[in-house]
Amino acid sequence: MVSGEPGRAAMIHTQCAICESDAWDRELYPDRLGADPATYGRFSARRQPDRVHYRMVRCRKCGLVRSDPVLPDEELARLYQGSTFNYGEESVCARLTYAQYVRETLPLVKERARMLEIGCGNGFFLEEAIGLGFAEVYGVEPSRQAVEAASPKVRDRIKNELFQEGLYPSGWFTLICGFQVLDHLTRPNELLQVCRMLLEPDGLALFINHDVSAWTNRILGERSPIIDIEHTYLYDKKTMMRIFCKNGFEVLRIFPVRNEYPLAYWCKMAPLPTWLKTRLLSVLRRSPCGRWIMPMRAGNLGILAKAGG
Ligand SMILES: [Zn+2]
Repeated sequence: MVSGEPGRAAMIHTQCAICESDAWDRELYPDRLGADPATYGRFSARRQPDRVHYRMVRCRKCGLVRSDPVLPDEELARLYQGSTFNYGEESVCARLTYAQYVRETLPLVKERARMLEIGCGNGFFLEEAIGLGFAEVYGVEPSRQAVEAASPKVRDRIKNELFQEGLYPSGWFTLICGFQVLDHLTRPNELLQVCRMLLEPDGLALFINHDVSAWTNRILGERSPIIDIEHTYLYDKKTMMRIFCKNGFEVLRIFPVRNEYPLAYWCKMAPLPTWLKTRLLSVLRRSPCGRWIMPMRAGNLGILAKAGG
């Protein structure tokens, strides 16, 4: 356990970020926190899921799914600062998937001037964005270890802190991206307001995150890897659209995302019994089959939205 970590009594009650109320809550799953939920490992990117999660509720008015109660913001900040980052083949695959969607967005970007990625990890996607023709790329990332591992090409463009107001001038960016970050935030409205302020008029926001209503996640229910302590909110097409509109964005496109990962990664994320997963992974990691790249619509959702004037 992280030293000085608060007990459950110190957890914070949350409200639906769209309705700003808890009046329509319906419990989906009681918590599965166990005795030692808050470790740096649990707040690290692309870790093996372990079914540790907060109590989850769905707002019956708008459909938004969220965790309630959750660890306080200062504790979450500390966990993300100390989290680790996966540098393997999986991050290369993620970079290629994200680059593909940014490439599709380029015809709508007025000018490839300044691009920001929120939660940029070791900056692997920032390097890709330079290759896509952006004149200046910037990133914000709380994990110290991830930023230390960034390539010298982009390291001085990454701010090692939590994304917040005041980091950049207003109207500075033509494109802001966030890949698998929105689900992790306790204050998504604040993030979207700051994004809107930092974007030039008609600037674009591109976010990719889990789709709680995807068929894979509906079938798996509580066994889905997205039902996880890292996720405060879980969106679907409808709720994603609503929260962007609520914060002054015009939604241009909302779409299912096709991820390409090695077979071993899909196996790591699959809801299999631990003994079976361990054996399968040990075989796959020693065999060339484990590195086969498999495309799959694995329950992710993308949104492209334009900042209103
Ligand atoms: Zn609601």
